[in-house]
Amino acid sequence: MSIESSPVKDHPFYQGLHRGHLLYLRCDACNRALPYGASLCPRCPESSIRWESSAGRGQVRARVTFHRSHREDLPAPYDVVVVQLDEGVRLLGRLSPVAKSVKAEARVRAQIDHGDLAFVAE
Ligand SMILES: [Zn+2]
Repeated sequence: MSIESSPVKDHPFYQGLHRGHLLYLRCDACNRALPYGASLCPRCPESSIRWESSAGRGQVRARVTFHRSHREDLPAPYDVVVVQLDEGVRLLGRLSPVAKSVKAEARVRAQIDHGDLAFVAE
């Protein structure tokens, strides 16, 4: 099942990708960047949180190669990276096939194409 036909397409993160923005969460009270999936700030549980647009730049913290595909439109093998965005949060993303030489600690930037996120070398 692709993202296009999945209920997750209505999630703000994926709606942002379809508009060309990589979004992350931030606390309105303390302005701290929050991890994906957070529903409140651990320091300010009474405050609200909001989505903000990331510059899409960060550093690879881990990389793994998938030898079995979980999506029809994503043939194996493909690489997935954990990226620490410069805004302070980490997220999982696919490494672009043109970025095979990217190793852990390398600087990368998000590339969004028709709602599809991949990371390339900065
Ligand atoms: Zn807070």
